[in-house]
Amino acid sequence: MNSLKEYKEKRNFRKTTEPKPALKKLKSTNLIYVMQKHKATNLHYDLRLELNGVLKSWAIPKGPSTDPSQKKLAVPTEDHPIDYAFFEGLIPEGEYGAGTVIVWDKGTYRNLKDNISLEEAYDKGKLEIFIEGEKLKGAYVLLRTGKEQADDKLWLLIKMKDKYADTRRNPVKTEPESVISGKKIEDIKEDTSDP
Ligand code: MN
Repeated sequence: MNSLKEYKEKRNFRKTTEPKPALKKLKSTNLIYVMQKHKATNLHYDLRLELNGVLKSWAIPKGPSTDPSQKKLAVPTEDHPIDYAFFEGLIPEGEYGAGTVIVWDKGTYRNLKDNISLEEAYDKGKLEIFIEGEKLKGAYVLLRTGKEQADDKLWLLIKMKDKYADTRRNPVKTEPESVISGKKIEDIKEDTSDP
């Protein structure tokens, strides 16, 4: 079963400029980490992590934190194609997720555990990873709540204690710009023409 089926079904690629899944898998040595800021019905942050040729995705309503005492709710959403990682722009009215998107943070990530693969860790609901982004850095854990394996379970994103943990930093508030264009989410509206 193609894990991008749901992604494709929800979108009309004649109307939206969001990427259409490519046929060939992109080769990369580093796994992609990206955090998009998405203003749809509600403002939220979309965490995407490359795994097995797709971007595993979670919507984080309040955005990520650098403070280990802050547990951030992360709601799993459908897998996205790798090409989606650097999508920034407008999702037209009537389309799924209609609104505006910027690339709030990007970089790479890696597995912190050497005794379990990322695939297995994902299936078990506990990903311990090292994020190397421009805004977020260091060890994070993504934890599925509840015991059963189910797609509709909620996850938590928590900063682990390390030298990058910082209880005073709040990049969601102090660094709102796109790491690609420098635009804020409010600036996207003016770009009505196709990129
Ligand atoms: Mn979203």
